[in-house]
Amino acid sequence: MVRTLSALALLALSTSALAQTDAPPAAAATPAPTPMLDTAAINAPLPADQAAMKAHVLFLASDAMKGREAGSPEFDIAAQYVAAQFYAAGLRPAGDKGGYLQTVPLVTYKAAAKGDMVWTARRGSPQPLVFGEDFVPSANPAAATTNVSAPVVFVGRGIVAPQYAIDDYKGVDVRGKIVAIFAGAPETFGGEERAYFSSPATKAWIAAQHGAIGIVTLDTPRAGPRARPFSALAQYYDSPRMTWANPDGTGTSPAPSAPYLGTISQAGAEKLFAGAKTPWTTIAAQAAGDNPTYRPVALDGTLTASTRTAFTPGASSNVIGVIPGADPVLGKEVVILSAHLDHIGVSPERPGQPAGADRINNGALDNAIGIASLIEEAKKFTASGTPPKRTVMFLAVTGEEKGLVGSDFFANHPTVPLKDIVADVNLDMPVLLYKFEDMIVFGADRSTLGPIVKAAVNAQGVDLSPDPMPEQGFFVRSDHFNFVKKGIPSVFLWPGMKGEGRAKFEDFLSHRYHRPGDDLTQPILWDQGVRFVATNYAIARQIADAPARPMWNKGDYFGTTYKGAMAK
Ligand SMILES: [Zn+2]
Repeated sequence: MVRTLSALALLALSTSALAQTDAPPAAAATPAPTPMLDTAAINAPLPADQAAMKAHVLFLASDAMKGREAGSPEFDIAAQYVAAQFYAAGLRPAGDKGGYLQTVPLVTYKAAAKGDMVWTARRGSPQPLVFGEDFVPSANPAAATTNVSAPVVFVGRGIVAPQYAIDDYKGVDVRGKIVAIFAGAPETFGGEERAYFSSPATKAWIAAQHGAIGIVTLDTPRAGPRARPFSALAQYYDSPRMTWANPDGTGTSPAPSAPYLGTISQAGAEKLFAGAKTPWTTIAAQAAGDNPTYRPVALDGTLTASTRTAFTPGASSNVIGVIPGADPVLGKEVVILSAHLDHIGVSPERPGQPAGADRINNGALDNAIGIASLIEEAKKFTASGTPPKRTVMFLAVTGEEKGLVGSDFFANHPTVPLKDIVADVNLDMPVLLYKFEDMIVFGADRSTLGPIVKAAVNAQGVDLSPDPMPEQGFFVRSDHFNFVKKGIPSVFLWPGMKGEGRAKFEDFLSHRYHRPGDDLTQPILWDQGVRFVATNYAIARQIADAPARPMWNKGDYFGTTYKGAMAK
């Protein structure tokens, strides 16, 4: 499970996330791996189906895998393991060149210079903005050099959401201009859509659609316990990020025609708003209040921005196998079952940490157990003796923790025709630390996958519950969302939170999620793992054998937004 998209893209705001990303390859400082068979994890024997699942997690979440970070050699070993297991499960290879692996070219990019920004008021002389005081530059994943000079229009949070009657671009023409926006989305938005509209990628996409040629983010004046000073942003301006690489070595961007240029401080914003119809003090007061709404403001001058971005190439792999569909017509359609194989690697040493402290983020629940489930589901299909009507693809992706990178690469370079992909069912971080009484299926209310999944789950004697934490926006935070963006109905499955579930889940999020403690010292209930696999198998089987392919519900926001995306 990736941290929120907005948090990822505004990585510089989070020192803890930064600490991970900033880590040099500290091989020498890494404690020696614990011998796998020496741990208390291997105590009593288990029934064969539980032992099979646990065995995958023992290997993938072992210290030897060093947290399976995308681009690391240990991830590559984990990928070979999954490929071998796919072979053993009877899957046919569906990666590159007749193999199970699909190479994913990666690129790490970061700001290569402090950049320049100059504000020229309509009746004034050029006024250089000061790095660290007035602005910090953004890295541009799509270009080594970015030079933009254009008038600036303030467009609130840069959101167009008809379902909430919000159009921050209403009445202004931003073609050929730079837009200045605030981060975030209104608190009145539903959780999934709030996360979606808070995402810098969504905002860039909207800006590009309106013809803007650059974006600057304005520092939000709202002070609070979590507010960080602008100077903290400046300190980390060149922190690296990762995406997949284009053939020319640059990175992919959600909107290459409207790059992020930088973040402007409140002091900088005051300069830009000088002479504007609405003064900065008014905007700042609105932003500091509750539920602000904004009207667009054309600023009275031109911003000239120059930034530089450095690129370091890398590589990783998705692992892909299929069971060919048996039906002469439906067999060419593909149901994808996905899970991410990567995790966040080894944390850097922290000041004051005792020597030899465990810094390996094993990612047992996030998401070795999802991969183990995928492998065991594949075995269930072959063991059933009846091939599915549609083709079922098992997709283990890389780079989820870097911002859904491997699934985005696959969605843009599918190894089967995109139009034949009818659904994605995603498994990410099932917390199997309690006997689950229900299941949560994110996205169930958005497409005909909902009733299909409900029937399959109920047949297993399990209830379907609504999203218990809509404010978290989980639906837009894992790999299936890249299929949603291609117009493909998708769902994301979790054990439910009834009974003791909620407390166990929240305890995991607070104490073990994205920490070294997400390892095999947790009391994972393998019998619940087997139940989870059985339920997921029933769901996949139902989708694969259903007479009709899944459809978005009429009027669903994501279904409507990305309708026809496949044709592009
Ligand atoms: Zn995660």
